[in-house]
Amino acid sequence: MYEVSVIGCDNYEYEKVKSAVLEAIESVGGFENIKTGTKVAIKANLVASAAPDTATTTHPAVLASLCDILAERGAEVVVGDSPGGLYNGPFLEKIYKTSGVYECEKYGAKLNRDFSESKALFEEAKVAKTFTYTGYLDNADVIINACKLKTHGMMGLSCAAKNMFGAIPGTMKPEYHFRYPSYEAFADMLVDIDEYFKPELSICDAVVGMEGNGPTAGNPRKIGCILASKNPHKLDIVAATIIGLSYDSVPTLASAVARGLTPAKIEEINVFGEYKKYQISDYDNIAVKRSLLFKGTSDNVIKNIFGSIAKAVLNSRPKLKKKLCIGCNKCGRICPAKAIVIKNGKAEIDRTLCIRCFCCQEFCPVGAMKVHRTWLARMLEGGKSKRKKSKKLL
Ligand code: SF4
Ligand code: SF4
Repeated sequence: MYEVSVIGCDNYEYEKVKSAVLEAIESVGGFENIKTGTKVAIKANLVASAAPDTATTTHPAVLASLCDILAERGAEVVVGDSPGGLYNGPFLEKIYKTSGVYECEKYGAKLNRDFSESKALFEEAKVAKTFTYTGYLDNADVIINACKLKTHGMMGLSCAAKNMFGAIPGTMKPEYHFRYPSYEAFADMLVDIDEYFKPELSICDAVVGMEGNGPTAGNPRKIGCILASKNPHKLDIVAATIIGLSYDSVPTLASAVARGLTPAKIEEINVFGEYKKYQISDYDNIAVKRSLLFKGTSDNVIKNIFGSIAKAVLNSRPKLKKKLCIGCNKCGRICPAKAIVIKNGKAEIDRTLCIRCFCCQEFCPVGAMKVHRTWLARMLEGGKSKRKKSKKLL
């Protein structure tokens, strides 16, 4: 049995996408637990109110074809997500409209309008032994994780494992950055959430991914494939390899490897399809490796001092592109550390408070907040020059 499938799909033409999605699913064993009447929740990536051609959200053609395939098997489908910010009808309806997911209703699926919350008690968790999540997932017999391949300011990669963070209600997300302040603890929490929900299948829209200032303000980049797996971490190893990331530069992968949930290397995963055909050598990634290397938690004082200096000099931090800032204070409202104020119509960050969670970068509506890597970090990481911004695709 194949563990991850990678199927070519070079644009979002509906029939092409449906055929690729179907082949990707069947190559990893199909829907074993889905029959007539099975209630399925598709956890999409609907992180922001953004049009499909910005590559911010799971493309509606991928979601609609998944709904179509599930309807053919007699399943009752609901599509949902909780983006950052409010978790209510008006906020979500705007996102449903802009991201094009009404398309799913053509195939009998419902868009989630149950905004209740539930509490999880998860004793086997490494860190997240209790958490609050979106209640609509309780009504599902089966969960399908339908993610998008993107860069991510804090976690390096937004793909299958990171996508399940959307099960945490939007207004509570900043609180989780405080509860799990290091990148390692945050990644452990994300992997706990994946383990709690155990999606039956993860499917990844990598027809056009996002590179650069992801997950909401980067640039679309054509990759040309759809991936599927029953194991979100194995899918992420393959996706990371395609865009040139190693497991130890992605905290969720480092955590999953340490727990034995996936091998570290793609060579140890049984992959269906020629993933090498889709590899991109100059994908504009946001590396977070330096932050992982310099934790400053050793017992050795000298090492800790070195770690703190290295952290200050090498770690990425949010940086405002003043010209773009419209002073809306969305970043200030989402910042868990209350480190942002608006002065003279522009955002200003108090560096002494900032915990580098990159929520401000993720939720800035105009991409004014960027992930800034110091010149030394760039040099040590191989001095990769930034690709020219790609044009919007499709
Ligand atoms: S940085 Fe972005 S979110 Fe913050 S005030 Fe400026 S435009 Fe608004
Ligand atoms: S300023 Fe940005 S990166 Fe720093 S704590 Fe606030 S939201 Fe997080």
